[in-house]
Order: sequence, then C-alpha cells, then structure tokens
Amino acid sequence: MSREVRVRFAPSPTGPLHIGGVRTALYNYLFARKMGGKFLLRIEDTDQTRFVPGAEDYIKESLEWLGISPDESPWNPGDCAPYRQSERKPSYMQYALDLVEAGHAYYAFDTSEELEAMRERLTAARVVQPQYNSITRTQMKNSLTLPEEEVKARLASGEPYVIRVKIPRKEEVRLNDMIRGWVMVQSATLDDKVLMKSDGMPTYHLANIVDDHLMNITHVIRGEEWLPSAPLHVLLYKFFGWEDTMPEFAHLPLLLKPDGNGKLSKRDGDKLGFPVFPLNWENKVDGDTAAGFREQGYLSDAFLNFLAFLGWNPGDEREIFSLEELIEAFSVERIGKSGTKFDIAKAKWFNEQYLRAKSNAELAPYVIADAAKEGVTIIQDTAEALVALMKERVTFPAEIWQGSRFVVEAPTEFDQDIAGKRWNADAVTILTAYAETLEGYTGDFDAEKAKALLGETAEAKELKLGKSMQAVRLAVTGVGAGPDLMEIFAILGTEEVAKRIRFALATLEVIG
Ligand code: GLU
Repeated sequence: MSREVRVRFAPSPTGPLHIGGVRTALYNYLFARKMGGKFLLRIEDTDQTRFVPGAEDYIKESLEWLGISPDESPWNPGDCAPYRQSERKPSYMQYALDLVEAGHAYYAFDTSEELEAMRERLTAARVVQPQYNSITRTQMKNSLTLPEEEVKARLASGEPYVIRVKIPRKEEVRLNDMIRGWVMVQSATLDDKVLMKSDGMPTYHLANIVDDHLMNITHVIRGEEWLPSAPLHVLLYKFFGWEDTMPEFAHLPLLLKPDGNGKLSKRDGDKLGFPVFPLNWENKVDGDTAAGFREQGYLSDAFLNFLAFLGWNPGDEREIFSLEELIEAFSVERIGKSGTKFDIAKAKWFNEQYLRAKSNAELAPYVIADAAKEGVTIIQDTAEALVALMKERVTFPAEIWQGSRFVVEAPTEFDQDIAGKRWNADAVTILTAYAETLEGYTGDFDAEKAKALLGETAEAKELKLGKSMQAVRLAVTGVGAGPDLMEIFAILGTEEVAKRIRFALATLEVIG
C-alpha cells in the first residue's frame, strides 16, 4: 500500500520569512494538494539563541495572506502534535542515546578552548577545512578515546558534554534528489556533527530527522542550502534503521540577485528599492524593519503567481495561474536546477495583470479606504468610476486614488509649468465657449457627447482643438497628464466641468 503523501515546511523563527522561504512553503503546498496529501508546518526552534519573538506569527500571517495555510501546524495541530520542536524537547535525547548504544554516536567533552586549539593545529598543518571527523576525533576528549570508567565518571559528575554522530571513515553516501538526480558524497568529507548540545537541546540535524520520521513525512522539499546536509541525513536514517520510510528529497534552486551574482539578500532589496519579504516586519526588540510585498500594494494572488514561477514553469507559454490552476499544473520535475534571478519588473507585471482582471466593484474598497485615509469620503459608485478610469494605467491599487483624486477634489492650484506653455488666447477662447455650451446643455452627457460638444465649439471658433487639449485638461484637473479626459468629464457632469473651467479662467493668466 502506498503511503499518504505528507510534506512539511519547517522554518526556524529567526526573523521575517524570506521570499525564498515562502516559495518553499508554496511548492510544498502545491505538491501536497496535487498528490492529495497533507501539508504540515513545523517550527524548528531548537536554537534558542536565534529565537526572535513575533517571527512565528509572521510566518502564520504570511501563509494566511497567500491562502496556503498548512493542514497541521502549531496553531492547528493534527495527530503528530506538538508542532514546535522546543515542545518536543523531551523526546530527542532517547534517540541520541540509541545511536550511542548502537555505536553510531558518541559523547564528546571537549571544551571550546580545546576545539579552538584543534582547529589551529590543523590550520597550521595546512588542512583546508579543519573539522572534527573520523581522523581528528582520535585525538580529542570523547567516549571513543577515553576509558569507559572515565566517561561514566564525567557523565555522573554532571560535566557538560555533547553527543556527536560517528561518521564512517570510508563510505559512499548516495541520494536520489528529485530535482538533481543522483548525488554521491564520500563520507570522509563529512564531519562528526553535534546531534545533542550541552544544553540538552538537539541540533537541527537530529531533531529534523526524528521529527520527519515521527510525522511520517514522505517528501522533503527545501532550499538548496540544505543539500550539503542531506548525506548526513541519509546516514542518520540508516543508523536509526528507518531506511524503508526515508523521505524523498527535492532541493530547490537558489533565488539570485537581479544580476545573477549570488544569493538574493535583504540588503539587495533595501539597495534596489524592492521588498524581499511578504509582509512588513518590525522587530520589537532590536528595531530592525523590512518592507513587505503586501504593504507595497501587491495583490496576494498576483504575488503567489509570481512566486510559483521563481524556479518552476509549466512547460508552455502560459503565465497566469490561479492557485487551483497551479495545483493542477505543478510537478517537481519541472522545477529547474539552476538558480532563478529575482526580477521585480516581473512581479509588477503580474500585479498589473491581476489588477486589470479584477472588477471595478472589487477594487473600489481600496479607493474608498485610500480616500478615507486623507479624510475624503467617497461612495461605491464614485470609487468604481475612478477604478474604471485608472485600472489600465496603474501597477498598485494605491495609485488609483493618487492618480484620480482630482476628479473628486476640484483643483485649487494649477501646474504652473503647463500653464506657462499652454494657457494662451486660443485655449481661453475655446474654454470660454465650451463652458457656455455646457451651461446651456440639458441632454444626456457621456464621454462621447463631451468630446463632440468640445469639437463643435472649437470648430465654431475656427480653432484647432488639438493644440489646446492640454489647457483643457489643466483647467479641469489642475495637471497636464492623466487618464482619459472625456471619461473624467462624463463622471463630473456638465455643471461641474463648467464650474471648473470658470474657476481656471478666472485664476490663470494668459500668456502672450
Ligand atoms: N529549519 C530549517 C530551515 O530553517 C529547515 C530545513 C529543512 O527543511 O530541512 O530552513
């Protein structure tokens, strides 16, 4: 019988969730849904020195925003609770002791000075990567070198110790990565990693393997930075005798800086002016802050679509995918091996596509809220009209109100630069006549009618309208550029347009 697919996202709560982490969560989610399995979230908080308050809530909120919440998690526990490693602390020691018992791990009593001295000795002997391994451990203070009685006495006296894995001297470790294919490593290149720390906490390596086993994880989908640890993990599965249920591995390609030169970091975002985190972040303890995609105006479905393409593609030309469509199209085989360059222009493009696909009614609440922030009250109908005017021209919802607020608020000032160039006698003649026409007009008024009347007015005065169009815009909106002017007229109505023209005529000075 084949096992139910169970995957996990296992972040450490050390700060805001980086975009690479969100992508890992998304791929796990897509894979679980595609395979009809479960998506778990486990908080890996065994390194208490790196714990940052608020980070767990941030992770939860980020996934909720994207609509990819886990099926089992600390805040929604399933059968494998608890889902925080700090709460699973009591269970790890026995597993480490089992490995000691079986001869796959050992106690080590070396002080930090002794470890430092070892590194210095090896460096002096020109060893490139000085490490605690199958050769050097023979010269250190551990249960492999000390007499059994002494080990017992040291343990009994409460002397601090760690438990290290005993990496075999000569063994080829193999794993078949779903993305990279066969990966082969000689055990001689691995070091005797610490499994249990002196504070009684397990390290990532031990806790990760034990928990993946106890939580029946079938596939480990995680960032490429964990590939070097995978051979150790394979060995641990073997030492525990869990080879039959060892998960399959898929190591995701790195997210690279826009120029492809190295890993994308928080500093790149700060430097180049774009977010690399899903949500705004503020560390209450050290005051560290970071900008988020959500607060910058990215729509969650657009951001999700963008994220899916950072390392995966469907194998054809399609780019716009809803979450349901992503689940349908997703496969690990179509994840690339090489790093993906981060391209903020692409994120913006996705946002524009999603913004345009939304109905005016859906986007109206953004405009109402943005106006309200500035103390301006507008009704749904007005907001929808502003959306219609701006939707094709903007990247973010906030630009709708910014770019159309003059529709609601009549200008009291005019762009002096444009006025200096365009407010001439011809423009004044046309505008005066147009205001008169509008004041006497009682029929239906829409964009087309507004345009026809304006054209007729110019013609009657035997003037070319084209040259005065910017002055007409200036009179009614106060600025020289913006969305379709006749649509604006239609929204404002004859009376308001005429009133604004009269105000401009009375305010602006004609250039010679
Ligand atoms: N806690 C690790 C991290 O923060 C998880 C790595 C893994 O998925 O095995 O990325």
